[in-house]
Amino acid sequence: MTVTAIVGANWGDEGKGKMTDVLSANSSYVVRYQGGSNAGHTIINEYGKFALHMLPSGVFYPNVKNVIGPGTALDVDALLKERETLLASGVPEPLLYVSDRAQIVLPIHRLFDELEEERLGVRGFGSTKRGIAPFYADKYAKLGIQAADLYEEERLHRRLTQSLETKNVLLEHLYGRRPLQPDDLLPELREQAERLRPFLCETTSMLQEAYPKGESILLEGQLGALRDPDHGIYPYSTSSSPLAGFAPVGAGLPPYAVTDVLAVVKSYSSCVGAGPFVSELEGPEAEELRRRGGDAGEYGATTGRPRRVGWFDAVATRYGCMVQGGTEVALTNLDVLGYLASIPVCVGYKLQDGTVTDRFPVNAKLEGAKPVWHRLPGWRCDLSHAQTFEELPEAARQYIAFVESAVNVRVSYVSVGPKREQLIRRGMS
Ligand code: GDP
Repeated sequence: MTVTAIVGANWGDEGKGKMTDVLSANSSYVVRYQGGSNAGHTIINEYGKFALHMLPSGVFYPNVKNVIGPGTALDVDALLKERETLLASGVPEPLLYVSDRAQIVLPIHRLFDELEEERLGVRGFGSTKRGIAPFYADKYAKLGIQAADLYEEERLHRRLTQSLETKNVLLEHLYGRRPLQPDDLLPELREQAERLRPFLCETTSMLQEAYPKGESILLEGQLGALRDPDHGIYPYSTSSSPLAGFAPVGAGLPPYAVTDVLAVVKSYSSCVGAGPFVSELEGPEAEELRRRGGDAGEYGATTGRPRRVGWFDAVATRYGCMVQGGTEVALTNLDVLGYLASIPVCVGYKLQDGTVTDRFPVNAKLEGAKPVWHRLPGWRCDLSHAQTFEELPEAARQYIAFVESAVNVRVSYVSVGPKREQLIRRGMS
């Protein structure tokens, strides 16, 4: 019986999509439990290169059941367009199940996201403008629309009317826009409802029945630990919890169902959007790492924005693995570091008051923190064809050992390229 949460230990973009795609091969279910179309998982396989935003990463295997759980921000249009793109690329029809309790991202959420980011200007949070923060604000203010509401005309009208009451005050008086009525939104929602109908079901019972039968289930996290609203770099966080602890809640499983937490750790650091990022690089050093990183440089899968990059941050990653509750680590992008004669890693933070710490500080103390560097030997060769741990050069193995001792979790996978087969599974010895 395995229920594995695959989660990010950093700021996101660690390569979770690749890991989920690989591990999906032996799974019955892949479940998205939080977030919406605001982050992308890049997957490269025999069908091509895909950036999945809403679809679970099991969609390339026709027998895997892909579930959009109740905890997600369901962008119906993005979901169905992504499915169409896959089919047009020759991917066999995936099995897709969308929770009838998942709440819908409305066009007005996207509009509010844009208007607010515009209003904030340079004080903005670097939103991807997919409506996620206004969506979750509505959800917890009890103004959200569940997928099942789309089919109850009277209820839908009433819920929209209630939701628009306060929004219209902001639209008119804060943003200088014209107010909206339910009828401005209803035609699009009715059309979305019809397109969504074939995929909608009661996914919670489905998973609750599957897991005691020993079916293997992957719970796929979006973004990473440092974007968690409680434990991350608030307010530069996302609006739902990307932690493994939330995975059973957002999926609809008991908390004790999760048997394994695979924390995906990147061999260097990258981050999209604003917020403190202690090991960040600038200038030519950053440009070189950005150009060499990922499968085609470090550019956001959702926005195309250049990602901020830096060296591996042991302080942040240890904390990330801890709050994720990682039971094993997949270390990704190790191949990227092959150009370096020696590799800097951040082992401590010097805070503004002059103290040095190796513990991830609270946000008020994080601002202005400077990295304390340590250097590890580089291996100066191409790792992208390595298939076993033993084949890796001594310096690469030392780097892995360093990461392992820094985060206190065993590295059980080492990824040496974006493709499925570029993955080393480490034996138990
Ligand atoms: P996710 O959101 O965690 O799935 O990560 P993204 O897809 O946003 O970013 C990860 C990037 O790294 C993508 O471009 C992947 O194709 C790429 N990638 C994943 N693993 C590796 C690896 O081991 N080596 C290299 N060079 N690229 C990788």
